[in-house]
Amino acid sequence: MIRASRSGTLRVTLFRGALPLAVAIIAGSVSAQAPFSFDTAFGRLPKDVVPLDYAVAIVPNVTEKTLTGTERITLNVRSATTRIQFNSLNETLSDVRFDGQKVNSVTSDDKQQLTTILLNSPAKVGHHSLTFSYSGKIETAPQGLFAQPYSKPGGGDGVLLSTQFEQTDARRMFPCWDEPAFRATFQLTATVPAEWATISNMPIAKKVTKGKLATVTFQRSPSMPSYLVEFTAGDLAEISATKDGVKFGVWAVRGQEQGGAVALANAQVILADYNDYFGIPYPLPKLDSIAVPGGFQGAMENWGAITYNDQTLLLTPSSTIGNRQTVFSIEAHEMAHQWNGDLVTMGWWDDIWLNESFASWRAAKETELRNPSWKWLEGEDASKESAMSADGRITSHAIETHVTDELQAANAFDPQITYAKGESVLQMFEAFLGDDVFRDGVRRFVKARAYSNATSADLWNAISAASGRTVAEIAADWTTRPGFPLVSVAASCDAAGNRSVSLAQQRFLLQGADPNPSHWNVPLQVRAGADGAPQSLLLTKDGQSIAAGRCDQPLSVNANGVGFFRSAYDPATLQTNIKAFGSLPMRDRIVLLDDQWALVQAGQQKLPTYLALASSMGDDLDERAWGQITDALGTIEYAERGTPGHDAFASYARALIKPAADRLGWESKEDETPGLQKLRRTLQSDLGAWGDQAAITEARQRFARFKTDRTAIAPDDQSAILSIVARNATPADFEQLHALAKSAKNETELRRFYSALMLVRDTKLAEQAAAIALSNEIPPQADAVRLNLVIGLHDENPALSWKIFSENLDTLMASHASFAPLIIAQYSPAIFWNSVPLDQLEGWVKSKVPAEMEDNVARGMETARFNFARKVALTEAADSFLATPGLAGGSQKQ
Ligand SMILES: [Zn+2]
Repeated sequence: MIRASRSGTLRVTLFRGALPLAVAIIAGSVSAQAPFSFDTAFGRLPKDVVPLDYAVAIVPNVTEKTLTGTERITLNVRSATTRIQFNSLNETLSDVRFDGQKVNSVTSDDKQQLTTILLNSPAKVGHHSLTFSYSGKIETAPQGLFAQPYSKPGGGDGVLLSTQFEQTDARRMFPCWDEPAFRATFQLTATVPAEWATISNMPIAKKVTKGKLATVTFQRSPSMPSYLVEFTAGDLAEISATKDGVKFGVWAVRGQEQGGAVALANAQVILADYNDYFGIPYPLPKLDSIAVPGGFQGAMENWGAITYNDQTLLLTPSSTIGNRQTVFSIEAHEMAHQWNGDLVTMGWWDDIWLNESFASWRAAKETELRNPSWKWLEGEDASKESAMSADGRITSHAIETHVTDELQAANAFDPQITYAKGESVLQMFEAFLGDDVFRDGVRRFVKARAYSNATSADLWNAISAASGRTVAEIAADWTTRPGFPLVSVAASCDAAGNRSVSLAQQRFLLQGADPNPSHWNVPLQVRAGADGAPQSLLLTKDGQSIAAGRCDQPLSVNANGVGFFRSAYDPATLQTNIKAFGSLPMRDRIVLLDDQWALVQAGQQKLPTYLALASSMGDDLDERAWGQITDALGTIEYAERGTPGHDAFASYARALIKPAADRLGWESKEDETPGLQKLRRTLQSDLGAWGDQAAITEARQRFARFKTDRTAIAPDDQSAILSIVARNATPADFEQLHALAKSAKNETELRRFYSALMLVRDTKLAEQAAAIALSNEIPPQADAVRLNLVIGLHDENPALSWKIFSENLDTLMASHASFAPLIIAQYSPAIFWNSVPLDQLEGWVKSKVPAEMEDNVARGMETARFNFARKVALTEAADSFLATPGLAGGSQKQ
């Protein structure tokens, strides 16, 4: 599953001092696990009766939002029992029979989400059948089987049915053993309007039409967990292709299916690559990608029938390169799950990282492989930095985190730790062991656990077998405890100028001290000099000493930035690195910028040292390096807002990025990489945000042309230019921006134009923008966008954004379903730290979420308090830097 994309609209709106809004978390930590065993796997359901095969037939009533169904389950009774227990929610069972005989009693408890059946006499060991009829609900939010209203492309209202079951919502559509270790085969039947298209995990086996209704039966699925069952039905149309015996389909609301052409081509390339990488060919006869409009956000890896929010799958002429990157990278993520997740499933939600980190890591590699000009792996540094900022908190949690019951599992999907830290850790181990050895280990893992479940131990054992090294012990440092180390590097030189360095480590924290001093086995990549291949080395103990080139050479112990740790060099080595900065490989420059900026934020380095590095970029062009710099400068500029030093710092920041902006100009060039084009837009919009009059004038002129000629600004450039116009908007500009938003041709434009509208600086205009975000101008399928829009107001109007958010919480959260508590508990404090006094914020958050989310609230509030303290510290440091004669002026002339 994936819930946010790195090039999503939130990057624009949530921009400074806030976190990318996405999702989830949990507490505690676990020790290294044993290999998977069904009998010892965690879960609430008893294991003496297990399902082998389900035949589920449903008849949905879309008007009434109800459904009726029948179910026939083949069971394996493993020890004689009179009691059978499984999951159900909002369902009423009737005519329950065991081997054809009526049972003694049936009790369904919605609070526990369990149904308990008592038999008249103990069932013998062996296979039996359980049959029943039931009635249930169609949901309006994406949990279980849900109805999704939408505006049809040609006008008029439509509604379709789709499903979202991960983690624990299959039970909302049909009673079942809804825990990941209970794999079974599924045969689904549905009766729906005859003209509707129907899609499930497997191809249609038969379709019988009677009057206005058709009964469709799908082929039996392979053995899989219940959360991967999928069903979508509605007035949908498909484009398709067949390659290597697999039929690929992209489905969308009728009239939009051609927007899936790029996704269809991508899927064929990605599947062929994964067949090779994983060493086991994709085992199903077809792979459908389904574009669901509306409240369903992100994408879900249902086996053979992946669902996507339509904005992450379909492209139109309004789409940008960012949209194309989203489509490819999310497809690559969900398709990696067809192996890591679907063919091999974690045994329990503790190990959700086995699904998510793997899919993210594999997707990043695949995206880089097939789109080298995107420099995707270099750009993943931003996601690693996001993970490190979350993991630099005392309240952080381990990648493997114990989930005590499956109802908490929704909170285990933490984008910064479960996805991004896990991805980085896998990347670090891949670099340490070598790509081929690591791939071998992955192949062994998938082969050994196919059609079954796994724990982390199964993975590390397979990788140990492939590498001949005991990986489990080293890896456990990274997956079973929170945080990461700061590696200190102290060099000494001999008379001939040869350098040896002594290494030490401690936990890196943005604030406070490590309560339980931690130690990691750290895979280092050591590069002395500006070129040459790095050497792999394992740091195991403090004081470990290594030879590291010559003292006049630059040094990196995290070459290419593939390690999930920070480095601090002794002053002389740091000076050597700063001097050589312009000649370092770009990824070594980036990690140096990252680490120095993190040390500044943690109060362990002086701001001028970081700014000296940033100034040394000159007009060298690289998207991620400049993205790092503009994020840091933007954080300081945001901190300075409303203080006397603001204008001086804004002027300094403009001067620092101007040479690169000037070199890029305003017009895209044909041979430019997407990265350089994106860099141009980042620099333009920052210049505009920081008050550069030339940029503001240029943006306004371009907008004036755009009003009458919609081709005057390319789709890729629209967000940057509109953001500059919006921040500086007059009432007349605002009217024009609003008119533009109302005329959006599709949801891609709608998101872009309305997001820009939220950036207005003028308070009165911002109030109008807020009213628009809540109005019915936003069509039903874009309901989830309202939350992004309201948060978008925060950049220029933090108090207003908070007021609208807190007063309309229920409306804004309606389409975010089970993730709403996490958004409120953990993300809202990180966003609204400067909107409302912190104690008041904390009290409010606590009053809105269940008491067991205290760890999530603690994480959110730690970030809020850190952001607040950082604002004070950065303002002071920047003011003092600018008041020091010579320093700032010297940098500006670079
Ligand atoms: Zn996923």
